[in-house]
Amino acid sequence: MSFFDRFKRENIEEVVYPTKCGHEAKPFNEAVKVFGEEINIFLRPVNGVIDLCLNCYLKMIRKCPSCGELIHPGDPIVFRQVDESENFDLVRNNEYIIVSLRNKQVAGCTKCSEINIVHGHWNKKGKIERLIKVS
Ligand SMILES: [Zn+2]
Ligand SMILES: [Zn+2]
Repeated sequence: MSFFDRFKRENIEEVVYPTKCGHEAKPFNEAVKVFGEEINIFLRPVNGVIDLCLNCYLKMIRKCPSCGELIHPGDPIVFRQVDESENFDLVRNNEYIIVSLRNKQVAGCTKCSEINIVHGHWNKKGKIERLIKVS
């Protein structure tokens, strides 16, 4: 049975799966509005577990302060300094990924980044996971 057949069957049966966030979730594939933008959220079980329930997934979505692109749980991120001319509210932590409030560092997406480096990941626990420096 292909994945999509299984996905269909699971949807019909409304099977509920445990999630790594400690909740339960049904397989999900629908458009949801996040920060005023309609995006498709696709949750599926892998080995009988779904990574995040819809609620946790949505709560962990952040915005890139440079281009406004949405950063999903698990996405690569690039750290950068906040420019003096930027006056977005760093304290609104639920919208942007703050690397360091004190050092005015934020994390953005890799799509608009001018440097070809990934500094870490926005992990599926809603935390910054720094990549180990190999240099
Ligand atoms: Zn959850
Ligand atoms: Zn960006």
